[in-house]
Amino acid sequence: MYTIIGAGIGGLTTAIVFEKLNIEYQLFEKTKAPSALGAGIWLAPNALQVLEFTSVLNPVFKVGNVINRITLSNEKLAPLADSSQLPAKEKYGFSTLAIHRAKLQLTLIEAIPKEKIHWNKAIKSFKQSKDSVTITFTDGTQMQSQYLIGADGINSKVRSQLFPKSQIRYSGQTCWRGVMKKALPKEFKDRGIEMWGKGVRFGLSQLSAHETSWFAVKNSKAFQKDDKTILKQELLKMFKNFHPLVQELINTTEIQDIIRNDITDLKPMKHWQKGNICLIGDAAHSTTPNMGQGGAQAIEDAYYLGKLITKYPNENIFNKFEKKRFKRVNSIVRQSWLTGKIANLKTGANIRNAVFRAIPKRLIDKNMYSVYDLNE
Ligand SMILES: Cc1cc2nc3c(=O)[nH]c(=O)nc-3n(C[C@H](O)[C@H](O)[C@H](O)COP(=O)(O)OP(=O)(O)OC[C@H]3O[C@@H](n4cnc5c(N)ncnc54)[C@H](O)[C@@H]3O)c2cc1C
Repeated sequence: MYTIIGAGIGGLTTAIVFEKLNIEYQLFEKTKAPSALGAGIWLAPNALQVLEFTSVLNPVFKVGNVINRITLSNEKLAPLADSSQLPAKEKYGFSTLAIHRAKLQLTLIEAIPKEKIHWNKAIKSFKQSKDSVTITFTDGTQMQSQYLIGADGINSKVRSQLFPKSQIRYSGQTCWRGVMKKALPKEFKDRGIEMWGKGVRFGLSQLSAHETSWFAVKNSKAFQKDDKTILKQELLKMFKNFHPLVQELINTTEIQDIIRNDITDLKPMKHWQKGNICLIGDAAHSTTPNMGQGGAQAIEDAYYLGKLITKYPNENIFNKFEKKRFKRVNSIVRQSWLTGKIANLKTGANIRNAVFRAIPKRLIDKNMYSVYDLNE
């Protein structure tokens, strides 16, 4: 039996894949109930191909918004790179889907039998033996499982016990995310846009007929706090040189719908697994959000775990899983870290923009598609 810790994108998708493949599991989550908080995320074609393999693709599409064009631009919305997603749709069956994170989580939960998800159950520690793992929860209860999958996010308890030397890195950038309770003007409905300025950037996409998600990133020290009474004025000032749509989005978003997080990732580790315990998703390889791939990689993890367990039903497949995923995921983590540095350049932003404009479109598309490809 597999015990999955964490009902985030990775843990829930693992449960759904296991459900489809008849792999025995139980899922434990520390919160009392699914969270209604969060903002928009993008599900790239690689994530959507996995969801197609499961039963949840249609319900997920029902609550999301299809993005057919992705534009990287300067602050005035003059393109540096502009990619139609239709070739991706032709090749992989899907372009990108923008979706509210809370709606995604709820849709995934609905596909899992209620008796297999245990809420308000936070793992405290574990004890590994050759044939099983004894898990202790913070409420004092214990259970035994043949295998343990740590899908408990960037601050993973499972990881901190399994690999105590793992390190979370601060990127030097902080991010505000907002959800405006309105659609975008029609011409922007199916577009994902990221505007690069000098030391700041702003991104947006519509999530549904009455929700639009945006993010604002600036270079900053870690752990700064906002004064909510002046936050909007500060954001408006920060983005005063940007396209008027940016001002409208900030102005129209309710202050309680704006959240802030420092951007971090996990310094790539030598291993994600040891014996009968394996980490997946952000617990194993949290990445900066600059390529919109953290959730997608957690979803891919779920898929490959399921595939390998089915192929080698009587073996511990965690080592094979790590081998299969390591190179691809670490290359995304590295590329995403570098992209963030380039995106938030303060000096040299004009040169950066000129270089980006000069990159042949086919190279940009090739790089994008290498990420979309599941590489089975
Ligand atoms: C600003 C921002 C924007 C992003 N945008 C995108 C995007 O557009 N596309 C994309 O693909 N990815 C995006 N990501 C990345 C994505 O959010 C993560 O990679 C993804 O959520 C990882 O899923 P996970 O299941 O591994 O972890 P999480 O989603 O963090 O889930 C972990 C779960 O484990 C639970 N948990 C924690 N501790 C315990 C415990 N002790 N016991 C039991 N349960 C526990 C938590 O409550 C949580 O439910 C973004 C991230 C950020 C920060």
